[in-house]
Amino acid sequence: MSSRTIQVSPFDLVVFGGTGDLAARKLLPALYQRDRAGQLPDEGRIIGVARKALGHDGYLKFVRKSLHDHVKSVEVDEEALTRFLARIDFCAVDVTGESGWPELAEILAAGVERVRAFYYAVSPDLFATISTHIQQFNLVTPKSRVVVEKPLGTDGESARAVNAAISCVFSEHQVFRIDHYLGKETVQNLMALRFANRMFEPLWNSMHIDHIQITVAEELGVGERGGYYDGSGAMRDMVQNHILQLLCLTAMEPPDAFQADSVRDEKLKVLKSLRRIDERNAEQCTIRGQYRNGSVGGQPTQSYLQDIGQDESDTETFVAIRAEIANWRWAGVPFFLRTGKRLGNRTSEIVVNFRPISHSIFDHTAGRISQNRLIIRLQPDEGMTLEVMIKDPGPGGMRLRRIPLDMSFVETFGVSNPDAYERLLMDVIRGNQTLFMRHDEVAAAWRWIDPIIAAWHNTSQRVHHYAGGSWGPSASVALIERDGRTWLEDSD
Ligand code: NAD
Repeated sequence: MSSRTIQVSPFDLVVFGGTGDLAARKLLPALYQRDRAGQLPDEGRIIGVARKALGHDGYLKFVRKSLHDHVKSVEVDEEALTRFLARIDFCAVDVTGESGWPELAEILAAGVERVRAFYYAVSPDLFATISTHIQQFNLVTPKSRVVVEKPLGTDGESARAVNAAISCVFSEHQVFRIDHYLGKETVQNLMALRFANRMFEPLWNSMHIDHIQITVAEELGVGERGGYYDGSGAMRDMVQNHILQLLCLTAMEPPDAFQADSVRDEKLKVLKSLRRIDERNAEQCTIRGQYRNGSVGGQPTQSYLQDIGQDESDTETFVAIRAEIANWRWAGVPFFLRTGKRLGNRTSEIVVNFRPISHSIFDHTAGRISQNRLIIRLQPDEGMTLEVMIKDPGPGGMRLRRIPLDMSFVETFGVSNPDAYERLLMDVIRGNQTLFMRHDEVAAAWRWIDPIIAAWHNTSQRVHHYAGGSWGPSASVALIERDGRTWLEDSD
């Protein structure tokens, strides 16, 4: 089954950080795939900007290598590659200085009428200086937009500063704050499931839902990013953005339309309704963890301290939180949030656990009636599973069992899902902000996160250790079991 591909408008996409890891692994492969699918018009240019004076040919070599390294070899064909490389330009600019900008202005002068997107794939401390230079060299056109990556600050105050630097030059409708989780097919399907079907929305509340689990688990440790990660930790790196965005889409009220501000207004209300966690209750509601050595997939793995080359650190590589949304729909329904590095496997999922049936008509020989569960999987294989009770087939008596009704998107549609960046980059060019965060969402997320981090420090909340390849510290199991529930992998 294939979908229609509609070409986007003519554009110039300027990638600051055009030689970085993000450009090599995600942005260039995503743009190549969209070109291959016929979505990029002839008048579509990609202009890499970096500090190093690579020259045009040097940059083409870099792009070619990036595609060979990060696109499946069957998907790299010479014809598509030649077409894609013809779109590429390069400009060496040290964004902290004045040189290079006139050359960039000259390249862009050839496309004044086009959509002009500036992608800041650089460290956030360069956002302000890039924005100032863009203004100084008159590069902003009516059709300009800017794309920024996480981390959007390290707390509420620094996020405000990042935003202020950008908003001096761009207005809010031009700012695209990427959270690539929102570009995942399953996340968009969550909205289709809730709002394009009759059967789920009437059940989507505290009357029928017992609790919800959101897990984002990684097998990998911190790897090369140790230096950055140790100043950040799982709370800032994963919970503030990806996990809270998943929570918002799961818990929000139906927006009046699938349009940017309607959806973002509803997400914002969820963030504002999160019950505060601070020094009074952080110990009961949150667990911090850090991985020790262990083994993943039969291979021995190092501890976090070994990975970062330090003797001590109390940075958390794992967090579990019991969150509550204090509104009419969700009163009394706990949301268990969890993320960590070096866990049992790479899994991202939302698990909606329904309440038990109100009365059983079956006697004890039928067996236990398990609760219905809806599992929305983002990783590794995107899809959904609805677990329902059925009668065990056969002529025996009435015996009940829970079975999964499984839908894997790859199997159903016969194609693998596009990478989230493909969808999001096209949305930037189309000017559609529905899957991007508004500044007030980012601020509201930090308003909930900041007191938790402050409480950890002020009360010296313990960092529990866990073995690499496990599912986090046992305290995380205790957190959910205190409520009479179990994490999905521990349940029957
Ligand atoms: P990187 O270190 O691999 O690349 C940095 C890029 O910035 C290089 O192209 C370099 O030339 C350019 N640069 C640095 N200083 C410059 C200057 N003064 N003038 C001009 N160019 C300069 O970084 P990265 O991993 O690609 O990450 C870029 C940003 O994206 C960071 O903010 C990071 O947090 C964020 N991010 C990265 C990833 C990822 O997968 N790599 C994922 C999410 C967010």
